[in-house]
Amino acid sequence: MEKTFLGYQCSLCGKEYAPDEVQYVCPQDGGNLNVILDYDTIRERYRIEDITSRKDASLWRYLPLLPVSDPGGEGTPLRMAGWTPTYAPPALAEKLGLKNLWVKDEGRNPTASFKDRASAVVVARARQIGAEVVVTASTGNAGAALAGMSAAVGQRAIIFAPRTAPPAKVAQLLVYGALVILVDGNYDQAFDLTVTASQEFGWYCRNTGYNPFTAEGKKTAAYEIWENVFLGLGDSQRTPVVFVSVGDGNIISGIHKGFKDLNTLGWLPAMPRLFGIQAEGSAAVANAFQAGTESIQPVSATTVADSISVDLPRDGVRAVRAAVETKGTYLTVKDEDIIKAIAELGKVGIFAEPAGATSYAGLVKACQMGLIDPEDPVVVLNTGSGLKDVRAAMQAVQAAPVIEPSLDALKQFLKM
Ligand SMILES: *Cc1c(COP(=O)(O)O)cnc(C)c1O
Ligand SMILES: [Zn+2]
Repeated sequence: MEKTFLGYQCSLCGKEYAPDEVQYVCPQDGGNLNVILDYDTIRERYRIEDITSRKDASLWRYLPLLPVSDPGGEGTPLRMAGWTPTYAPPALAEKLGLKNLWVKDEGRNPTASFKDRASAVVVARARQIGAEVVVTASTGNAGAALAGMSAAVGQRAIIFAPRTAPPAKVAQLLVYGALVILVDGNYDQAFDLTVTASQEFGWYCRNTGYNPFTAEGKKTAAYEIWENVFLGLGDSQRTPVVFVSVGDGNIISGIHKGFKDLNTLGWLPAMPRLFGIQAEGSAAVANAFQAGTESIQPVSATTVADSISVDLPRDGVRAVRAAVETKGTYLTVKDEDIIKAIAELGKVGIFAEPAGATSYAGLVKACQMGLIDPEDPVVVLNTGSGLKDVRAAMQAVQAAPVIEPSLDALKQFLKM
């Protein structure tokens, strides 16, 4: 089928490029590139039902809206990324005084984080252009996702991660069989090394906020929220609010792009408000938003939420715009509130890593600040599974007691 991928437009200078003219960022100013689709043709060819009746229980149901051709890989995890469950936990809604609350659990992706969406689409692109090696810098999840999606279809992958990445994430990289190189430095240093190395060796680079296809993968979460939540809201007059945790800012930018696609196609009448949530100790995007500027000043990031611990967000400009253009906002939360959020989500059966629970901590704060009306439809993304970082999870709970294996000891413990 003829593709509807027209090219790219720089998010800074607005210059347009043909699909094969550039590969990563704008050659003139380093700006992130937005993928341009042929919306007229898509609108002519498809109605909403043509999309919602597709059979793939994965992000590949949206192939007509993606700038890549079908990667194949039937029966493999690559084919199963996305289409994550959206829960409506009554106990949480009640606790927050909300009538319409959903939690979309991205921990249910094949490698247990949101990053599978980006990596699946980047691997599809890699196969389309015949790339031998795909490489990424990662705090852990992007790498695990790229390693897992690559392993699924026999693509070679190299992952650079900070040596401080949580052990579960490093284990995942290794088990998926990628070449794993731990950098004695932080994520930002691993990022720069990866860009330099891919130029030197001709590797295809997946880096977040650098490769334009990551946001195209991530936008599929917006499509799912639209299909699974918004289409069911009927004539509700209230504007939905979507809570997203933010590090580099590529998830919130991708989700913004996804809703904009649907809006341009005429399939989503009103844009939801996007609320970006950052850890207080890693708040470069939130700082810029609060200062009313698109000029992102680096910070010296420290937070328990390693997946959103970023000195210089690589997709900061578009991340600021995601909130500005949708009349959303940015909030910051303390590490102790992130840990508390892990416990709150756990109590309704959702196990989140710290960065995953950050968006929920943001919702709690937004409710306290009176920013959310009880009638507002609210969607919170849990971006990663709690199994990714067990050490952080244990901070959210009391250690379990140890007893002698006898009924007496049990009675003594239960005071019964
Ligand atoms: C990567 C990641 C994020 C943040 O995404 P950005 O695109 O860096 O803003 C949030 N949560 C988890 C679990 C992640 O892995
Ligand atoms: Zn530019």
